[in-house]
Amino acid sequence: MSVYVYQCTRCSEVFMVLLRNPETDQLPACPNCHSTAIQPQLSEVDGLNQAGRSSTPAESCSTNGRFT
Ligand SMILES: [Zn+2]
Repeated sequence: MSVYVYQCTRCSEVFMVLLRNPETDQLPACPNCHSTAIQPQLSEVDGLNQAGRSSTPAESCSTNGRFT
């Protein structure tokens, strides 16, 4: 499982969800307005690992989720 960040295009709420596979899982609804018009914000999560932070505690978690 991986954490994905989405932004609601209706109310601009940014929220995180756990998805096993974003290609096949049903997309979540916005927790604020319950709209399903959401946009993935992948750069926020991936950027943390690619920004040169070699020893972030969260790295082991996200690495487990990347075996797809
Ligand atoms: Zn919303």
